[in-house]
Amino acid sequence: MRAINVGICGLGTVGSGVFNVINRNQPTLAARAGHAINITHIGARRDNPDCQPGSTKVSRDIFAVVNDPDVDIVVELIGGLQPAKELVLQAIANGKHVITANKALIAEHGNEIFAAARERGVEVAFEAAVAGGVPIIKVLREGLSANRIEWLAGIINGTGNFILSEMRDTGRAFDDVLEEAQALGYAEADPTFDVEGIDAAHKLAILASIAFGIPLQFDKVYTEGIGRVTTQDVRYAEELGYRIKHLGIARRTEEGIELRVHPTLIPQQRLIANVNGVMNAILIEADAVGPTLYYGAGAGSEATASAVIADIVDVARTIDAGPEQRVPALAFQQHALSDEPVLPIDAVRTAYYLRMSVVDEPGVLSSITRMLSDADISIEAVIQKEPKKGATTATIILLTDVVQERHFQQTLTALQNLPTITEPVMTLRMESLDG
Ligand code: NAP
Repeated sequence: MRAINVGICGLGTVGSGVFNVINRNQPTLAARAGHAINITHIGARRDNPDCQPGSTKVSRDIFAVVNDPDVDIVVELIGGLQPAKELVLQAIANGKHVITANKALIAEHGNEIFAAARERGVEVAFEAAVAGGVPIIKVLREGLSANRIEWLAGIINGTGNFILSEMRDTGRAFDDVLEEAQALGYAEADPTFDVEGIDAAHKLAILASIAFGIPLQFDKVYTEGIGRVTTQDVRYAEELGYRIKHLGIARRTEEGIELRVHPTLIPQQRLIANVNGVMNAILIEADAVGPTLYYGAGAGSEATASAVIADIVDVARTIDAGPEQRVPALAFQQHALSDEPVLPIDAVRTAYYLRMSVVDEPGVLSSITRMLSDADISIEAVIQKEPKKGATTATIILLTDVVQERHFQQTLTALQNLPTITEPVMTLRMESLDG
């Protein structure tokens, strides 16, 4: 069997992990792939002290790797949209298989990239793009292929999960914990992608596409960050038996597909509610197998390399087979992709947590519950907190039953206009995740 030559573009955290793990586990990889896996060319504009390329060829221009006629598989690990897109399309045009960990690239340009790959008869694999070392793409594409996937909910951004876990464990505020996450290297200097949910939205778009057989539609993912979650909300959620997690949720409904990323109250007893720190987890509800949960490191040099190298082994195994013998990039055959619509957020149905600051006088709670009842919104639980000594306002926390977002927002506007409500009402969505 001929050896497979791999070119790595980008020798940062993941690139160095891929280099080190391949070199460490070479005999095992060859035994699994049926081919020796050799890294023959690295594109890196600077050296990385975590990785010693030895005699492996290193080019400062990453395009030298994709234009190297001896390279069979290009591994794109530079991140970002450009020049990553150009690099990947060039590799495909040169007839090379591509492996990437780049969720932004796949979520935003995947449809175009897969079309180019189909045309050229090469594979594009992206296991590491979602949940780092957790092989969730393989689970959805292959392990669950017997099933109709009903919904999935994932903690798919470790930074956000670390922040919410610390807020709960230590009672510290969001900004304070974010600073610590940055100091520990869990959050970027510019944390927008993580805390605003954009990174999770990229990953959710990819998961939903594979789960439901729809084209990638990142622009239709409703995205809300965790910056407005307060320690008060974390505490009240606990009192009511819930935990706040930043979830990516994709659900099939009769009207269409829900795609949303937002802070969410979930029951404490769910296993996924107990996934803490930077760890990732994805809960999938499927018709034949029922609920299954996948947990592990969503980031890290060698954890992410594990997923990248699994893709290399997969590509190596079928490198001499025709495209029809390979697993389709989005799990479904191209002609079988569905045009089921993605629902706008106001058509989504979910339960709600409300925290209200109200004037401390008799009859306020009943006027609020009456308004909700008149709007046909059922109340599942209410707590009224005694005002602090000398204070004139009290806090009411209220959980609703499932309601359509559009209707809920109309009722919320009316509620907000009550003169007895003294501050903007804090609302968070709730999910039971019970199938
Ligand atoms: P990283 O540590 O920043 O490494 C990226 C490397 O690519 C750096 O060495 C950088 O070089 C190089 N690079 C960037 N643009 C380049 C260009 N135009 N020309 C040449 N080299 C270029 O990033 P990473 O954490 O390894 O992430 C790589 C990819 O994996 C990203 O798509 C990321 O989303 C994904 N991913 C990462 C993790 C993780 O745990 N880190 C987990 C899952 C997925 P310079 O140092 O010179 O800038």
